[in-house]
Amino acid sequence: MEAYSPPRHLLAKVQRRLTQRRAARPATLHFEQPILSITFDDFPASAAREGAQILESHGARGVFYAAAGLAEQDGPSGRNFSAADLKRLAAAGHEIGCHSYAHNDCAKRPVFETLQDFAKNRDALTAMGLTEAARSLAYPYGETTSALKRSLPPRFSSARGVMPGLNVGPADLAQLRAYAMFGEPFAAMRRELKQAARRNAWVIGFTHDVADAPSPWGTRSAELDALLRMARDLDYLILPVSAALERRLP
Ligand SMILES: [Zn+2]
Repeated sequence: MEAYSPPRHLLAKVQRRLTQRRAARPATLHFEQPILSITFDDFPASAAREGAQILESHGARGVFYAAAGLAEQDGPSGRNFSAADLKRLAAAGHEIGCHSYAHNDCAKRPVFETLQDFAKNRDALTAMGLTEAARSLAYPYGETTSALKRSLPPRFSSARGVMPGLNVGPADLAQLRAYAMFGEPFAAMRRELKQAARRNAWVIGFTHDVADAPSPWGTRSAELDALLRMARDLDYLILPVSAALERRLP
């Protein structure tokens, strides 16, 4: 759901940059090979079908950050996922992540309420047939606070934001960097891919719907396919977020 847009005034922008800089789970990331993770937020049914199918055609799997409160609702990126989508994706080896239950702006709510909301999402996804609790989190709208980052439940081995950049060298597991796979950040991501491969970096992309004519927050099917092809040519491993973390060199 992207119809809401977080505050854009200067103070909010400065705050956002400070929050990204204050690592709550600092880590030094190094890998033997470059890694690409493709992630879907909310998530629309078209991501579960078209998106998953394109990944699978490349022998790859992605992450689907589910907000159970949006399930089967119509959003700005189309109809959202169903319990059947969730079960099929999990059975096919995709990772199901947490994207909160209600999809609120986490920077505008007390930390305790947000943590309750994450627990509600876990219970709702279990009720929909998921057998394992999510190990990865993506903040709705990418919005978070230093206090929330420090308070994340230990079951989350990572949390993903929406600030572009590579995850290599000094990184924050409580706010991984990710490129939007639409608009200008997607162009930047494609430009960076070659250079990032030389550094054995971990590149994360996020999107919503996948279609021939996607919403402004979605990715064209042919462009997702072309990106995966490019990544393969550059010797990237294409892995879900938790599987990528397991590839960290000591
Ligand atoms: Zn979202």
